[in-house]
Amino acid sequence: MKKTVSDLAIFNGSKLFPRPVSTSNLVKPNVNDFLDLLKIAQTKDGEEVLTTQLEKELANFHSVAHCVAVCSGFWALVLTIKALALPNKSEVIMPSLTYRRLSDVVAWAGLVPRFCEVDSRTLAISSSTVAPHISANTALIIGVHPIVNCCNAHELESIAEQHNIPILFDSVESVYETHRGKKVGSFGIAECFSLHASKLINGFEGGYITTHDTKLATRLRRWRNPSEHQTNMVADQSPGMEAKLPAAHAAMALQGLRELHEQIEHNLHIYRTYQALLPSVPGLSILTFNEIEHTSFKNIVVKLTPDWPLSRETTISLLNAEGILSRAYYSPPLHLKLTKYPVISSSLPFTEKAEKQYMLMPCGYQTTIKQVEDVINFLKFIYNHADHIVTQLECS
Ligand SMILES: *Cc1c(COP(=O)(O)O)cnc(C)c1O
Repeated sequence: MKKTVSDLAIFNGSKLFPRPVSTSNLVKPNVNDFLDLLKIAQTKDGEEVLTTQLEKELANFHSVAHCVAVCSGFWALVLTIKALALPNKSEVIMPSLTYRRLSDVVAWAGLVPRFCEVDSRTLAISSSTVAPHISANTALIIGVHPIVNCCNAHELESIAEQHNIPILFDSVESVYETHRGKKVGSFGIAECFSLHASKLINGFEGGYITTHDTKLATRLRRWRNPSEHQTNMVADQSPGMEAKLPAAHAAMALQGLRELHEQIEHNLHIYRTYQALLPSVPGLSILTFNEIEHTSFKNIVVKLTPDWPLSRETTISLLNAEGILSRAYYSPPLHLKLTKYPVISSSLPFTEKAEKQYMLMPCGYQTTIKQVEDVINFLKFIYNHADHIVTQLECS
C-alpha cells in the first residue's frame, strides 16, 4: 500500500497492480469442455450443428421463439436496423449517453442517428425522452439498456406502438436481466446482443438477435450469409454482407452459457464487497442493482458526488497509473462527437452533466475480492491526500 503521495505510480512509484485489473468480464470457461464442443466442428455439418445448438440454447435462455447468431453485436444491430427501419424515412432515435459505436452502427445502416436524453434516475432512454424526437421522418427507435438495470421496455414498446414506429432493443448490457419479471430477449420486434470477450457471455467475438417474428428470423438468417443461401439479393433486399458466427466462437459461447451461474455468483460477491466498503469513501457512491429483478451484477458503476475532491479525469489517471483500468462511463456522449456522417443533435443538458459524473470500476471473472478491497483502500488514500496530489500534479 501507499504511504506517501510520492509512492503513487503517477509520480513514478511502483504500481499497485503490476498485472492490470480490468473492468471487462473476460470470462474463461472450462477449457476441456470447450475443446470437446469444438471437436463437433470437425464432424459432418459440425459447424452448422454448433451454431444451431447455440441458437437453440439462447432462444430457450431468453424465452423467445428465435435466435439468429452473427459475427458481432455491431453487425447484429446493423442487420436488424436494415430489416426493421420504415422505408423512405431516415431518422433513428437513440440515446446519446450510450455505447460509443452506436451512432456508427446507424450510419452503416444508411440512416441518421437522432440523439435523445436519458432519464435522470435510471440513466436509460424512456418514453418521455423519446417523445420530443418523434417526427414524420422517424424510421426506428433503439431502446438501449443502460449498464446498470434495464430501461422501461414496456413503456417504450407502447410509445412505439402508438406512433406505429418499429422498436429494437440493444440488450447487450442486459443479457441476464428481467424487466417486471419478464426476461430480456422478447421485447420490441427484436433485441440484439454481443458475445464479445468483455460481455457476460464470451464467444471471443460474436453477437445474436432474438425475436418472436418468424419471418424476420428467416430473413436475418438469409441476410447473414447470402452466398450460402444463393439468395436473390435484389428480391430479398439483402444488404449484401457476410456476417456468420465462426463455429469456434459458437462453441466458446455455448460453454460460457453453461457456466453462467457460477459467474453470476462471483459477480455478486464482487458487488457485495463494493456495497459494503465503498460507503467508507466520502464522495463516491455505487449504482445499485434492482434486486427485485434478475440481474447479472456484472458491472460496477460509481458516481462521483460533490464531496469527491478530484475531477473524474484526474481520478481515472491516478487509477490507470496503478494498473486499475477504470474508465469513464459513456463519455463523450455521442451528440458531442464529431462524425463524418450526418446526425441530428440538440442540446441535451442532463446528458452533458451526467457524462462527467460516472466511472466503471474493476469487476468480472478475473477480479478477486482482495483486489476490490485494495482498490477501495487506494480510493481512500487518494481522498485523504487529494490536496497534496493536486499540488504535485500541477508541479509535474
Ligand atoms: C459492446 C456493445 C455493442 C457491440 O457489440 P460488439 O460485439 O462488440 O460489436 C453494442 N451495444 C452495446 C450497448 C455494447 O456495450
